[in-house]
Amino acid sequence: MPASSGRPGFLSVSPLQQAPAEPVAGCVFCEEVGGRLLQHHEDFRVVAIDDIELPGCARVIWNHHVAELSELNEDQRLLLVQALHETDLRIRTLHKPHKINIASFGNKVPHLHFHFIARWRTDPWWPESTWSQRPSLQWQGISATGFAEATEHLSDSEPALLAVSDWIQLKDLASPLRRAVFVQEQSVSEEEEFDSFDSISRHVVIAENQAGLGTGRLAPDGRIGRIAVAKDHRNKGLGRFLIRALLNEAQRLGFESVYLHGQVQALGFYEKLGFTADSEEFLECEIPHRRMSLIF
Ligand SMILES: [Zn+2]
Repeated sequence: MPASSGRPGFLSVSPLQQAPAEPVAGCVFCEEVGGRLLQHHEDFRVVAIDDIELPGCARVIWNHHVAELSELNEDQRLLLVQALHETDLRIRTLHKPHKINIASFGNKVPHLHFHFIARWRTDPWWPESTWSQRPSLQWQGISATGFAEATEHLSDSEPALLAVSDWIQLKDLASPLRRAVFVQEQSVSEEEEFDSFDSISRHVVIAENQAGLGTGRLAPDGRIGRIAVAKDHRNKGLGRFLIRALLNEAQRLGFESVYLHGQVQALGFYEKLGFTADSEEFLECEIPHRRMSLIF
């Protein structure tokens, strides 16, 4: 434990009582590290929380039994703030979140500790806290989505519904479609197709009779992608509904622009939706593409 510098502080707190050297039985942070260890210091540790639904979470845990910030002396407070700052920077660099939530409760565990939660405008809880209830899944008729030409493409016998939500709610409908189109038809590997962005992206699904007809996603960096339409429902305009729903969602979430990688033969399709090509041609999965962006 660092010696007190003796500098006069606004709060003059006496040095910390030495915490017991032996772990206290029944104390979760004495008995367990509390995550994947990233940094060990005599007085604190930084651990990563590997959660597939929410990447980029970490904890800074004071190693000794101190329940309140006001129990630390000045040097310890400075040390702790430095640790919090470095953890914040580490998460920003690694995960590029839109926001980092920092929470400290400690009602049950007598170790001062701080939860770091990386947040994206596209994560399932945004803008509420990650322990709040996620909004329930809302389906709407395609013709109710505000797309004037919607009913031209789908007959009355196909009461297709559209929903925009998170991966937790839509993965059962979206995954089989993407597997069929990208993994089976286009030979993309399963690992590449279902990447770590799914859990922090917004997804759209068009479905009828509880089966997905089309899907797509808006990734946290504003990229629209993973547009997949079931083989026997192509050329009905579903792709346009999917992209427009994601454009509406991006605007609702405050994105200033979005982009996609469009296959060269489909550039006209994206231009009609308002996208402009802003790169040279490049190969992706051996198919020529251009980057196309849309500024709201
Ligand atoms: Zn303990």
